[in-house]
Amino acid sequence: MCFWGWFSSHIYIKPFRLCGNGCACCSHAYLLSHWLEWSHLILPPPDCLPFFETCSLYHIWTIQWTICGSAYPSPHRGASALVLRTEGECWLFDCGEGTQTQLMKSQLKASRITKVFISHLHGDHLFGLPGLLCTVSLNLNPCPTQPPTCVDIYGPQGLRQFLRVALELTSSQLLFPYSVHELEPTTDQCPTEGQLSPDVTADSGRLHPQERAGRTIPLDVNSDCYVILEEKRFVVKAFRLFHRVPSFGFSVQENDWPGRLNTELLKDLGLKPGPLYGRLKAGESVTLENGQVVKPSEVLEEAIPGRKVCVLGDCSSLLGEGPLRACHRADILVHEATLSDEHREKAVDHGHSTPSMAAAVAQACCARMLVLYHFSQRYKPAAQQKEGDEDDVLELRRQAEETLQGTGIEVTLAEDFLTIPIPLIRLH
Ligand SMILES: [Zn+2]
Ligand SMILES: [Zn+2]
Repeated sequence: MCFWGWFSSHIYIKPFRLCGNGCACCSHAYLLSHWLEWSHLILPPPDCLPFFETCSLYHIWTIQWTICGSAYPSPHRGASALVLRTEGECWLFDCGEGTQTQLMKSQLKASRITKVFISHLHGDHLFGLPGLLCTVSLNLNPCPTQPPTCVDIYGPQGLRQFLRVALELTSSQLLFPYSVHELEPTTDQCPTEGQLSPDVTADSGRLHPQERAGRTIPLDVNSDCYVILEEKRFVVKAFRLFHRVPSFGFSVQENDWPGRLNTELLKDLGLKPGPLYGRLKAGESVTLENGQVVKPSEVLEEAIPGRKVCVLGDCSSLLGEGPLRACHRADILVHEATLSDEHREKAVDHGHSTPSMAAAVAQACCARMLVLYHFSQRYKPAAQQKEGDEDDVLELRRQAEETLQGTGIEVTLAEDFLTIPIPLIRLH
């Protein structure tokens, strides 16, 4: 039974109902417009929150591979790129050659990409980026009343200069601003020969016309991580990996959602559904007509844990304590498995991992699901496997599953266009 088929059996359509919690964002028109936009999404299985629970349309995250191979794109599998869809935004992780054509084949809109995370500067993770930015610009319909959104790009030192030179030498102008925020690698992230000379990575200081100054982010020695983004909804961190060149992983941690309002209790207090419900849900205390103050903690059920998605770039090992801390209890851990376990020595020599190495990381992190990607092109997608083919991609999953036996950690093989929904899950 294929993954798509299994999940598609859970697609259903229900009439909208208005939010009973006084949430300002709910209206028929609003929900309708978003439903149309998101309607192709695969909905979560029934054991998670009901899809149309109040405002839960906004709770849907998916992770989608546009391409997932290694080294170079082939007719049956592209180089690395995946998209995390959150509330109306798309975040792109790596951008191998051909990403833009794969995006066109998918139902994702490249123009929705607001953040790009580049794990390392190898071409199979980066060659697609200048072209993708140019195509997004060509297809952009600028709104005269609203300035275009700045695209934030995060990645290793040298990325800023790479993009600047690529855009400058090709006389490429963009209709939107962009900013490159660079992570400072440490010298132990790769062999000496993998370290780029400062002459190559140095910032020329001359910004591309559409470039906005970006940050240089140092390693936070206390947490052994790079704090990339801390906002109301998310905390995004990067951490160090060992590869042939400095490589990073990224962890996206969603903040917890407030629990459900205890409507019975609210009714007993004389509070009717309306804006006060919204204020309580937003963490504000409210004062009743009789002067009684109701605190959110008195009427909210247990908070719903935020989701965590971790995407690791190419690596043969983790570096320091940061990765395990950042990936602890990840809902989805995306880890490379370039070669099978029989080729472990070769994989490590080239700075890569095998399925059992990836599984050991997932186990150490207590992840819920391990997704393997970045397969050598010798492993054809399962659907294209022919009798007599020596290398079987399903064997990669079997090897990871064997290592994870008894842990309850699910293993999935990424293939081009695979979509995995990431539902909110209540603890009780
Ligand atoms: Zn790679
Ligand atoms: Zn690489």
